Amino acid sequence: MRKKIVAGNWKMNKTFAEGVELAREVNDYVRYKEGGEGVLVVLGTPFIHLAKVAHNITESSIMVAAQNCATEKAGAYTGEISAEMIASTGAKCVILGHSERRSYYGETSPILVKKVAQALESKLEIIFCVGEVLEERETEKHFEVVKQQLTDGLFNLAPEQFAHVVIAYEPVWAIGTGKTATPDQAQEMHAFIRSVVAEKYGQAVADETSILYGGSCNAGNADAIFSNPDVDGGLIGGASLKAADFFEIIKARA
Ligand code: 13P
Repeated sequence: MRKKIVAGNWKMNKTFAEGVELAREVNDYVRYKEGGEGVLVVLGTPFIHLAKVAHNITESSIMVAAQNCATEKAGAYTGEISAEMIASTGAKCVILGHSERRSYYGETSPILVKKVAQALESKLEIIFCVGEVLEERETEKHFEVVKQQLTDGLFNLAPEQFAHVVIAYEPVWAIGTGKTATPDQAQEMHAFIRSVVAEKYGQAVADETSILYGGSCNAGNADAIFSNPDVDGGLIGGASLKAADFFEIIKARA
């Protein structure tokens, strides 16, 4: 179902104690209704924080997410974490296809197809990231690149499986750079993504798909970005690490 979502991606930040504390602050913020009614808040924590954070969250409008999962179900894969293990912690979601995973860890679309399948088998919701690099935007290949990422990574899914996917558009040139897409650039790409989903699954499914923007989204610009009709929320990196900033972004989406 199409929802207003503000998702934090903590990436490789926060010790265990710091992460538990940040999650407590977010939980209290939502619990005491200081703002953010009607917004689904996602906390994308490191693996080792998942079980404790999921256990401590009392609010049903907060969902805990992992930032990756293994391609395989179980077995001799030293250092890997399966979707089933993630689900067993109480986490309900996984972020897949982040550009940092694609570029630093060689995650190609065939790898992502396997991860998506594992996540769905373990009944996890998926935030699936797409986005072009600067050169692709400058050469006006950004629409083509994003369409290919969607097609190769997701469009093998049946409609009832696709219903568990939230799409995050994260232009790589905007991630951690302080350079955001303009609200118009975000709207243009989000509308395009919705049209690509409509082509594949039909307009009704496209209208029910949540599409988030990510890339230097912060307390100062969230309002303008979220005011676009096809922007359903944000996937927030740096600004999700400080409770006060994250709260402002949640408030901007409410
Ligand atoms: P920043 O908000 O730090 O630019 O990161 C965005 C991101 O990659 C979220 O997944």
